[in-house]
Amino acid sequence: EFVQVGELAKKLNVRAPEIIAKLMQMGVMATITQSIDAETATLLSAEYGCTVEVISLYEETLIQEESDEAADLVQRPPVVTIMGHVDHGKTKLLDALRETDVVATEAGGITQHIGAYQVTRPKGKITFLDTPGHAAFSAMRARGAQVTDIVVLVVAADDGVMPQTEEAISHAKDAKVPIIVAVNKIDKPSANIDRIKQDLAKFEILSEDWGGTTPFVPISALQKLNLDKLEDAILAQAEVMEVTANPKKRATGTVVEAKLDQGRGPVATILVRNGTLKIGDAFVVGLEGGKIRAMYNDRGQSVKEAGPATPVEILGLSGVPNSGDILNVMATEREAREIADKRQELARHQQAQQVKKVKLENFNETIEEGKVKEYKVIIKGDVRGSVEALTSSLEKLSSDEVRVRVIMGSTGEISESDVMLASAAKATIITFNARANAKVRDVASKEGVEIKNYSIIYQAIDDMKLAIAGLLSPDI
Ligand code: GDP
Repeated sequence: EFVQVGELAKKLNVRAPEIIAKLMQMGVMATITQSIDAETATLLSAEYGCTVEVISLYEETLIQEESDEAADLVQRPPVVTIMGHVDHGKTKLLDALRETDVVATEAGGITQHIGAYQVTRPKGKITFLDTPGHAAFSAMRARGAQVTDIVVLVVAADDGVMPQTEEAISHAKDAKVPIIVAVNKIDKPSANIDRIKQDLAKFEILSEDWGGTTPFVPISALQKLNLDKLEDAILAQAEVMEVTANPKKRATGTVVEAKLDQGRGPVATILVRNGTLKIGDAFVVGLEGGKIRAMYNDRGQSVKEAGPATPVEILGLSGVPNSGDILNVMATEREAREIADKRQELARHQQAQQVKKVKLENFNETIEEGKVKEYKVIIKGDVRGSVEALTSSLEKLSSDEVRVRVIMGSTGEISESDVMLASAAKATIITFNARANAKVRDVASKEGVEIKNYSIIYQAIDDMKLAIAGLLSPDI
């Protein structure tokens, strides 16, 4: 089943009963809410001079990364995740690495926990994801965001290999990410480094001095012992792996964390994977779109651009993305918004992969973008009938200059995702005897989304006429 009869009628700009009659002539019995297959839709559309194109939305929204010239590839900082058993010192190590970073200390700023940070060594930079453990690691992987180049496996020298150590090994191996072992707590009298080597040998993690390939670095996170050796081992590993990127192209990145900030709106930490992210860049990230309004580094300082493997907090999102979502910088803002809109549409459907949409081309539709002003609305009604009545009445107000486009119509309460969709699409929400709870209203006001409530259809129509007139009035 391909398209609803009602929807097809709308797209063809023909009244539904006429379509139903035509279908009957073709031997197809269908009501306005029933769907017909692509073949029937194609035959029918041909009668109105329209072509039907079947496209998978999902495929359409995948963005191809720009290709590279070999000469543009440069070494980039490796991205490291610290894993290990609870209490073996992961957090302590992350804090210690950060505190001992001379460059960061000299550069000033106040440490901001944005989910990742970068340290500078004489031989290069290293990026650490500062959510330790494999929960974050696997969550990112599950979304196809393999950002970690190297895993530092922390094992307490006074304890040994424990269940979560084993889990961490499985995760790293499965992801084919090389491991560097940090044997921690060597300041403790009961520390036994050889026992750790023995334990790990059972998992085919063999130390270099035992004829293996895995670096083992004895450290004390507490006393900040050998942290430089650990960092050097990481950089040496990165050199072997040849982790490179092209800072000259449009950026791609991964969401490390994201939230709705009271004062600043949606905020996300992006780990740039490739290219350079700049202020003013239009982007799409998961279901959201936006334009980089401001960027801050891990010390809270405002930056204008961020190169490969750099974590930055960004402002300018249409909504809050999920961690692990991929960010793509697009050539234009319009392109970014279109992709985000499509993904929102896709997300509203259950079987994302199977969603198809009808793209119709005829002279009615080929009005050049920009020439026709569009008034996008989302309609929420108490019952199906009122949504349909409002949809057709409002769309009928379309003229040659302004088109009213209902991007979604549904029944029930207004949800947060309705508001986010409206925000992303720059649409107004029009309700007919439908409510929004306080939280949703709050999100709407933060997003600058207008919600108009009606209980009489004619009032909605009159208001829309005024809104259209407003769109037509010359800018002051
Ligand atoms: P996590 O659960 O792996 O993040 O472990 P934490 O970083 O929270 O450390 C657990 C405990 O071990 C804390 O009380 C730390 O102070 C302590 N600890 C961490 N590293 C060292 C170390 O190098 N030496 C000693 N003696 N204690 C450490």
